[in-house]
Amino acid sequence: MRIFLFLLVGVIIGAQAQDQNRAIEFPNTKDYLTLKCDFHIHTVFSDGSVWPNIRVDEAVRDGLDAIALTEHIEYQPHQDDLPHPDRNRSYEIALEQAKPYDLLIIHASEITKDMPPGHANALFIQDANKLIVEDPYEAYKAARAQGAFIFWNHPNWVNQQDNGIPVFSDLHEKLLREDLLHGIEVVNDITYSEYALKLAEDKGLTVIGTSDIHGLIDWQFKIPEGGHRPINLVFAKDRSVSSIKEALFAGRTVAWYNNILVGKEEHMKPLLESILTVSSNGMMGPSSILEVDLTNHSDARLILKNVSGYDFYKDADIIEILPHSTKRIEVLTERVVEEGVSLSFDVLNAVIGYKKTAHVHYTLDK
Ligand code: ZN
Repeated sequence: MRIFLFLLVGVIIGAQAQDQNRAIEFPNTKDYLTLKCDFHIHTVFSDGSVWPNIRVDEAVRDGLDAIALTEHIEYQPHQDDLPHPDRNRSYEIALEQAKPYDLLIIHASEITKDMPPGHANALFIQDANKLIVEDPYEAYKAARAQGAFIFWNHPNWVNQQDNGIPVFSDLHEKLLREDLLHGIEVVNDITYSEYALKLAEDKGLTVIGTSDIHGLIDWQFKIPEGGHRPINLVFAKDRSVSSIKEALFAGRTVAWYNNILVGKEEHMKPLLESILTVSSNGMMGPSSILEVDLTNHSDARLILKNVSGYDFYKDADIIEILPHSTKRIEVLTERVVEEGVSLSFDVLNAVIGYKKTAHVHYTLDK
């Protein structure tokens, strides 16, 4: 019996440790809090398979700061069983379920139209029932009248355009002009559109990355096998719904998908400065080989390419730094004439533009 209890306690402690380990972690930047958010989620109140409490529990396990349940206004496949006369119920139930936790719930809905303009999520709404409007343009206007931040969902969706390349239509131009379109999904579920990142840059749209989960997070994103859900990192002044709203309108985001960080350069740069710190450990004995520690303070596995011009003693030019760990490299500095050692890397899994990756640079004392 005692052995059984001992084992049981071990299992419970093990489970807790695993759960703490599971929470997604990214450091704050110099100027902002880094909030982990998912702005595209479904439940049985549209075409999802679970009750809203499961979405709250999943988000808590993943250590998220905020979620938005975005039920399709127009697509209600469970309506015979769940008549759903009040389209705010999903939000209200989630809000109630989230009370014991430190999780923000954003009131939202998915406006589900054919292309163009396709599907869009309206965040920070007051009343989802008022979005039941047939004309797409009028539906966007009804959401905006409530102060909504509106983003274009899966613009690359193959069901809507068979080549997988987003087309920014005249209607999208009109929505953009009239302050009815503010963001674009570069990441949706298990798809990634680098062309959508280009559109975000060209049109001044906020970069969005979401799970668009319908089933279970663990199954869809293979969490037991080491996967992670796609999330939006939002650089906010404080941890509140109003600060997230301010940050989204200001465009301060990076998405994290399949171990790839994707966002605009001005937001990626401060994030990488917090994620990756570099320190010199001095020369290895009497040699001219400099020991340098590279520390990764995030859940992302960093893939760096050395573009410094120096060779390393043990590593080739491609190096990986595992999440929350330090990697020591030994830099051959003999040919250096200047005072310090300049190390430069391309961060191969930090995308800052169409076919363009981020670059980091460090100067170290010899
Ligand atoms: Zn959706």
